[in-house]
Amino acid sequence: MPHALDSDYVRDQLVARTLDLNGKRYNSDGEYVLYWMQSTHRLEENWALRAAIRTANRLKRPLVIHQGLDPSYPHASDRHHTFILQGARETARRAAQCGLSYHFVLRRTRDDDRRVVDRLASRAYVVLTDLFPTAGIRERTARFAERVSCRVLAVDGSCTVPSSLFATPEYAARTIRPKLAKLLDAAIEPVTESMPTVALDDALRVRVREMLHVIPLPIGEMNDADIAREVAACEIDHSVPAVALQGGAAQAEARLAHFVDDVLPTYAERRNEASDSDGTSGLSAYLHYGHIASAQVVRAARESGAPAESLNAFVQQVTTWRELSFNWCLRTPQYEALTSLPDWIQRTMAAHVHDPRPVLYDLATLEAARTGDALWNAAQRQLVETGLIHNYPRMLWGKTMLLWTPDYETARRHLFYLNDKWALDGRDPNSVGGIMWCLGLWDRPWGNKPIWGGIRPMVTSRAKLKFDVKSYIAAQETLWSR
Ligand SMILES: Cc1cc2nc3c(=O)[nH]c(=O)nc-3n(C[C@H](O)[C@H](O)[C@H](O)COP(=O)(O)OP(=O)(O)OC[C@H]3O[C@@H](n4cnc5c(N)ncnc54)[C@H](O)[C@@H]3O)c2cc1C
Repeated sequence: MPHALDSDYVRDQLVARTLDLNGKRYNSDGEYVLYWMQSTHRLEENWALRAAIRTANRLKRPLVIHQGLDPSYPHASDRHHTFILQGARETARRAAQCGLSYHFVLRRTRDDDRRVVDRLASRAYVVLTDLFPTAGIRERTARFAERVSCRVLAVDGSCTVPSSLFATPEYAARTIRPKLAKLLDAAIEPVTESMPTVALDDALRVRVREMLHVIPLPIGEMNDADIAREVAACEIDHSVPAVALQGGAAQAEARLAHFVDDVLPTYAERRNEASDSDGTSGLSAYLHYGHIASAQVVRAARESGAPAESLNAFVQQVTTWRELSFNWCLRTPQYEALTSLPDWIQRTMAAHVHDPRPVLYDLATLEAARTGDALWNAAQRQLVETGLIHNYPRMLWGKTMLLWTPDYETARRHLFYLNDKWALDGRDPNSVGGIMWCLGLWDRPWGNKPIWGGIRPMVTSRAKLKFDVKSYIAAQETLWSR
């Protein structure tokens, strides 16, 4: 039986998932409860939205949902903007169907007014928003919480198991895995979604519109050409084009349904075969933008009846590795810095930073996929063309950077730049986890080799033992030459 929104289960989950960001007063004159949607771009299984609706219903006040899109986030481009707008279109349509008051404000240029959410907060009883450690969201939310006068609460809707239950950085997958296993069942119980009981009246609707100072984007009514026109008018990087993968909760749900029916049964055998374009879930961009809840993904996988080996392999990826990345980013102040890596890695880097590198490539050569390594180039091409790299070549792509850059810091910087600029799932805790793992995070020392020191080596020349390298390279060359 799914839990009701006012159940003890939901209350307990919200206690574990909610962080008070400023300790300020609840504004008793506030006319509504405000949910500022920042990283969980969906209406279903959205813990911040659930918290906002619970509070609104308890107070008998209406709920306002605000989502905005700025041109100023790092690597803002046609690729990210298009995916976000496609997701917002789906959110707007679903909100209209169920009578939720949702609006979307697009700030096209850096000169456009950036204080919309502050004005909305000035009339709110409380602001609820999403807890997300990367993509600049944590810093933006902290500045906002400092500026506004009412209480601001951040709610963790990204992690399957509430991230607060892991208060310190976990040492490795093996330390978080058993803890997650114990907590997982309780964290993914289904909840019946409820709607706000008090609607916005016409006068308040007008006041909210006035506070926006702009007409919200009629995103729910826009087709793909309208979205492309809006994106073209934004002050963002137009050299990173949109990709074929369409954003939105409906697309994420369709992808999940296909995955559990047709792919999951053979996931254990197929997941490392990079030449197989349909051997994994392909959900990472949807999970990054919150178009689907990880709990929904885990439940669907478990209910599929897939063989245990494949089911376990998949659940490990989407829980252990993903939540380890969130844990690292939430509990490590400088989560992207080399200096945050464990002592043994500091020692090994210091000992090997001056080792001669076989060849050095500058960033432009790397970005244009013009190195002397066909497999590396293929991975870079897949990233540029599709916005994603298959996990196996992605590990090689990341590790190889250590061999081709003058020092570990340059390798780190180039990896973040290329990943976050071109990957649709970039700027995520998993981006940080994946790149820092290439530099030794969560691993143990592996001998002592030139350049690598104790960091686990991985080289493209051995990849053919793992997957059909020739077919993978051929597939990416076809994409690149189109
Ligand atoms: C250098 C490097 C950079 C990476 N950058 C990103 C990134 O920017 N964004 C991103 O989401 N992932 C990143 N990863 C992790 C991984 O490559 C992707 O999550 C995975 O390839 C996504 O494909 P999928 O959804 O088909 O995966 P599936 O195999 O279907 O896995 C399902 C989900 O589990 C999670 N997952 C799978 N593998 C990992 C992993 N190794 N670490 C953490 N979570 C995982 C993801 O959320 C994924 O969507 C990176 C890995 C490396 C080595």
